[in-house]
Amino acid sequence: MRIAVPRMGNLPLIVEDLARRFDLDYIETPPFNLQTVELGAALAPEFACLPLKAVLGSFVQVLDLGADTLVMGGGHGPCRFGFYGEVQKRILDRMGREFRMIILDPPSASLSVFFHGIREVIPRQRVGGAAVLRELSAAMAKAIVFDEMEKWALACRGLAREAGSVDAALDESRRLLAPAMSRREVRKARREILEVFDAVAVERERPHLSVGLVGEIFVVLEPYFNFEVDTWLGRRGAVVERSCCISDTIYPGGRNPVFGHSDRRVARAAAPFLTHEVGGDGLLTVGAAVLFARRGFDAVVHLLPFTCMPEVIAKGVLSRVSSEMDMPVLSLSIDEQTGRAGVQTRLEALLDLAWSNRAGTQSESFSEDFTPRPSILTRGSGGVTREGL
Ligand code: SF4
Repeated sequence: MRIAVPRMGNLPLIVEDLARRFDLDYIETPPFNLQTVELGAALAPEFACLPLKAVLGSFVQVLDLGADTLVMGGGHGPCRFGFYGEVQKRILDRMGREFRMIILDPPSASLSVFFHGIREVIPRQRVGGAAVLRELSAAMAKAIVFDEMEKWALACRGLAREAGSVDAALDESRRLLAPAMSRREVRKARREILEVFDAVAVERERPHLSVGLVGEIFVVLEPYFNFEVDTWLGRRGAVVERSCCISDTIYPGGRNPVFGHSDRRVARAAAPFLTHEVGGDGLLTVGAAVLFARRGFDAVVHLLPFTCMPEVIAKGVLSRVSSEMDMPVLSLSIDEQTGRAGVQTRLEALLDLAWSNRAGTQSESFSEDFTPRPSILTRGSGGVTREGL
C-alpha cells in the first residue's frame, strides 16, 4: 500500500510520525494551491463545501504521484462530513482511478470503530495489538506537543521583540520533536521546546489586542485557505489563540488538552446561546467565542467554509454573542473565490474597531493614558500558558 491522507494543519507531521512507527509507505499530499482547488471544484458537486472540493483535488494530485490507498476521516452527527469519504470515492471511481479508500472514524467518536479502521491500515500479522496501543499512545502525546508549540507561537508572536524569532523557535521546536518516538522522549523534547520558547524575548507589557480564532477546523488550520490569518494578526501585534486543533479533535473523552476547555465546559458556555449540537464544529465555535469573551479577549475571528451548515448556524448565534458580550466578531466565509486582499481589509477594520473599543473603555477609567492589560501569557488562559506548564 502507498498511503496518502488529506492535508490539514499539522496532520502531515502527525501522519509522517505514524508511518515511521508502523513502517508504512506514505506519500505526503502536496500543499494546496490554485490547481488543487480548481481540480476539486471541477469534479465536486457545486454546493459541496470547500473541504470536500479541496481534499478531492488533492487526492487527484496524490494519486498522480503514485498513491494507491487514500485514508479519509469519517464523521458522525448532523454534518455532511461523514459522507465525504464515500462521495469522493465514487467521484474518483467514476473517473476510472484505481485505488482503495479507507475511512477512519476518529477515536473520540468510538474507540472500537477506530481500532477496526486502524487494522485496515496496519494488518494484525505485521504489528500486535499491544504494540499498536503503545505506539498510538506515544503518537498522541507527540501530536499534542505539535499543537502546543503552535499555541505558544500564536501567543508570543504579537509580543516578540525581534521579528522572525517566534518562527525560528517554531522551526527549531519541530526539529527537536521530530525524532522523539517513546513517551519519555516526547516529554524530554517538550521540556527542551519550552526552553526554546522561553528564550524568545517578548515584551509582555506592550499594548496589544487578544484575538480568538474560531470556526470550522479545516479552514481554521489550513494556512492556504485562511490566508495565514493567525500569523498575519500576530505580525500586527495581536496575541492569538485558536479554539480547535487536530489533537483535541482526536483525543478520546472530549478533554481538549490543548485548548484547555473540555467539550462539556464548552457546551455549558454555549448554552445561553445554543443548547444543542449542530454538527461539525458549530457548538465549539459558539462556546469558544463565549469563553474568549469571558476571558477579556478584544475580538474573535470566525472562519467558515461557504455553505458549511453548522458554521452558518453558529454565525447567526455569534451576532447575539457579540452584542450581548460586547466583543466584536468578524465572520469570514471562505470559498475558492475568496481573495487575500478582501480578507485582510476586513481584518484591519476589525483591529481598528477593537482598538477603539479599548480606547473607549480605558478613557472612562484612565483618562488619556493607555495602560496595557497583562498579556494572556501570564493570565491563566484556561489552556496552555508558558508559565503554567
Ligand atoms: S463542518 Fe461544514 S465545512 Fe466541514 S464538512 Fe461539515 S458542512 Fe462541510
